[in-house]
Amino acid sequence: MKNFAVILAGGIGQRMGESLPKQFIKLSGCPIIILTIRRILSVLEFDKIIIVIHPDWKQYLQNQIEEYQISTEKIIIISGGKERLDSIKNSLKQIMLISNSPDDIVVICDAVRPFVSKEILQNSIKMSRSHGACVCALPAIDTMLYVENNIITSVPLRKNIFHGQAPDSFQVSILNEALNSLTEDEKKIITGTAQICVLKHIPVYTIPGDIKNIKITTPDDIKIAENILQMGENK
Ligand code: C5P
Repeated sequence: MKNFAVILAGGIGQRMGESLPKQFIKLSGCPIIILTIRRILSVLEFDKIIIVIHPDWKQYLQNQIEEYQISTEKIIIISGGKERLDSIKNSLKQIMLISNSPDDIVVICDAVRPFVSKEILQNSIKMSRSHGACVCALPAIDTMLYVENNIITSVPLRKNIFHGQAPDSFQVSILNEALNSLTEDEKKIITGTAQICVLKHIPVYTIPGDIKNIKITTPDDIKIAENILQMGENK
């Protein structure tokens, strides 16, 4: 049985307000995506790592991989799709070509979460192997508010509220079936990978996330990420 990692890097990072997609911005001199790839390569349980990239940035990524001397033995680079969901679909198509068991595992990571820990990645493999699907999540610290038209309509019980991070991990056959059965309306509301299974009533278990496993989205996140690096937390 094989373990696949997918690195979603198909976005062009419009919220960052830069022409360079956010995964290529440097943190302490190293592109975010290179930090993420190194972290994932450190988990020897992964047989192949599929990086999904916008076609316009494929060559750029290849150049960076060469410049930062990343071993390419396990790496497969494929084109992303228009939406995040399309990029996931493309990665699954690639995996179906090389997977040899329905019990193979896919761990779907964001290129812009460079501090994903080895522990989270290994727990993701273990939990999805034993329970079918999992996502790492952090308990909410603030009180969460459900707001419509600027008015609070309910306050969910905080003990039941978690922040869903990535990776999201699945047995390949489970994700593939769930993905292929999504309706057009369901596709429109999806913001996280685990949601694909939740919509199909497939249990998705949580594993502990990590406060440092931030998703770099805005310029402020870059400053936070630099601080995390300088604190020496990038273990
Ligand atoms: O859009 P968002 O910031 O949530 O993106 C999360 C991850 O999904 C990023 O790593 C981004 O590159 C990736 N993505 C993708 N294909 C798209 C859009 C986003 O792989 N079409």
